[in-house]
Amino acid sequence: MQNVIVIGGGLAGLSAGVALAEAGWRVRLFEQRPFLGGRATSYVLPDGEHVDNCQHVTLGCCTNLEDFYRRVGSVGKIKFFDRLLFQDPQGRTGEMQAGILPAPFHMTGSFASFAPLTLADKRGIARAMLDILRAKGHTPDLDAPGGISMLEWLQRRKQTPGAIERFWRMVLVSALDEELDRTDARFGVDVFWKAFLCNRTGYRMGVPAVPLAELYDGCKAEIEKRGGEVNLRMPARAVRLENCAVKGVEFDGGRFETAGAYVFALPHLAMAELVTEEMKRCEPGLAHLEKIGVAPITGVHFWFDREVMREPFVTLLDTTTQWIFNKSALYGGRNGAGKQQGQYLQLVISASYDLLQKSRQEIIDLCLKEVQHALPAARDAKLVKATVIKEAAATFSPQPGVDLLRPKQETRIRGLLLAGDWTDTGWPATMEGAVRSGYLAAECVLRNAGTPRTFLQPDLSPDGLVGWFA
Ligand SMILES: Cc1cc2nc3c(=O)[nH]c(=O)nc-3n(C[C@H](O)[C@H](O)[C@H](O)COP(=O)(O)OP(=O)(O)OC[C@H]3O[C@@H](n4cnc5c(N)ncnc54)[C@H](O)[C@@H]3O)c2cc1C
Repeated sequence: MQNVIVIGGGLAGLSAGVALAEAGWRVRLFEQRPFLGGRATSYVLPDGEHVDNCQHVTLGCCTNLEDFYRRVGSVGKIKFFDRLLFQDPQGRTGEMQAGILPAPFHMTGSFASFAPLTLADKRGIARAMLDILRAKGHTPDLDAPGGISMLEWLQRRKQTPGAIERFWRMVLVSALDEELDRTDARFGVDVFWKAFLCNRTGYRMGVPAVPLAELYDGCKAEIEKRGGEVNLRMPARAVRLENCAVKGVEFDGGRFETAGAYVFALPHLAMAELVTEEMKRCEPGLAHLEKIGVAPITGVHFWFDREVMREPFVTLLDTTTQWIFNKSALYGGRNGAGKQQGQYLQLVISASYDLLQKSRQEIIDLCLKEVQHALPAARDAKLVKATVIKEAAATFSPQPGVDLLRPKQETRIRGLLLAGDWTDTGWPATMEGAVRSGYLAAECVLRNAGTPRTFLQPDLSPDGLVGWFA
């Protein structure tokens, strides 16, 4: 039986491992932490409460992530929502929801009645959308050498400040974890094409109905079923090379492991720590990993003594807090220790540069004020407990030109495959990107072994009028 070593138990490593196990390979996965899931995981607090590292959501257009959840028996643990709700500080609300019209006009009804935007904002947005549509998701200016920023792309299309702040920024900072002036427009335009324009279902938001770590329950079983193993608390310390081929991987205590192929599925900065000068000589694509920037996300967890919110989630406009998730409702009232009283909310702030220097208490005070403003019931409620989780390097920053720094999964070092959301997938730093990278790495392993197989799933097909014209 062929055997492979996978280093890293995040979504990239797990998807590569599960795919290769399915192809009949013996997979030995090594993860440095005591649990699986990497950045998209959850922990248990000392009082038995489960908290996600941060709320994670998926979209209908994330076809590979859905495929992965199906393979590991977790697809039923994701709840999909057709209606996205927005609210501004003046209490005006708007929705994004597909109506009866076919794509690309399915959002026309909810867009027309979106109260936080003015008529001038909407006219500009409609013009820009038409531009994306005509170009089938790829306007010619996206190909400028080095890329252009999303802000520049919007300014060229004369978007109003209201449209930029309350529409484009609101969607894209959440989706891409970066400010518009630091985002390659290619990623931004792609979000609107794949999620909002080319079909009716790409925008649907999938939210886990269980703590994130429970989504990976089936992975270990899949790998072990085919004779493999999942080793936790086992950080890889060094890669041994000979004539530009991997000889094996070193672990603590002098442990040395060898295999027919090696998939390194680490965050790019962790990978950079393992890369030696010899590796850079053999694979120049490994020489620039530190140049890939990172962007922060802050999660704020609030436990109130009573119900303060009915909706499953809401997006706030013009505030530091971007999303409020009603975790009690999403978990169906069940969470760890089983406390049914009160309500657990999770707030998300992407590209949270301004919060990095603030203290935990300052962040709690700021966000509590915003929650009390947005949710009147929270004004009389008692905040029982609060936690802040700052992830300074939550994702790679999708800056203009970043794709030039992202190496392919296949390297010139024999036996060495790369996976991770930061590798060359065409996608931004998302769970979907991580799974794509894992599937692509698994495909390379099988191709090199002379037993090719496809795991990568196609994008959602265009439907409605877009499908007809396409
Ligand atoms: C706060 C936050 C919110 C996010 N929200 C969303 C969202 O809503 N939707 C979305 O799609 N994406 C979201 N993301 C991004 C998403 O989590 C990542 O894109 C994805 O999980 C990356 O998976 P990965 O396997 O590439 O990397 P990771 O998840 O980082 O996995 C790498 C693994 O390698 C392990 N490792 C590191 N060094 C070693 C070593 N030397 N030896 C062994 N193991 C090692 C790590 O412990 C880790 O488990 C969010 C990320 C963060 C941080």
